[in-house]
Amino acid sequence: MSRAYISRALRLAVAERCHYRCSYCQTAQRFTGAEFTIDHIIPESLGGTTTEDNLCLACWGCNRLKYDRIAGFDPELGVMVQLYNAYTQRWTDHFRWEENGLLIVGATPTGRATVNAVQLNRASLVNSRRLWVSVGWHPPVG
Ligand SMILES: [Zn+2]
Repeated sequence: MSRAYISRALRLAVAERCHYRCSYCQTAQRFTGAEFTIDHIIPESLGGTTTEDNLCLACWGCNRLKYDRIAGFDPELGVMVQLYNAYTQRWTDHFRWEENGLLIVGATPTGRATVNAVQLNRASLVNSRRLWVSVGWHPPVG
């Protein structure tokens, strides 16, 4: 959670760049009825700055679970690797949807570590995705 002041203009710029979706689980803010948080990709506690190139939109659950980490455990390789960086990396290079959009699967060590650390297939998310898929709102395109 951010300690630094983030201006409304910066918040909007980050949200627009992230297409108003959580940078990690890809949930659309408009489906949740809650304004998402601004996540420091490199946490402030590790020297991350409050500048657009270190910020991304994140839902409350993903922000809480990512916490102040930048690395996570890849269960396939059994090593710690960098977590997904929503500014320098493309989501589709590291993750893919499976089971008709119900599950996020890591396609790289970074993707797998992020799925694991941020718990991108939390029961609450999978239950919501099931409803969104049934009405054609999910998975997101583009
Ligand atoms: Zn999320």
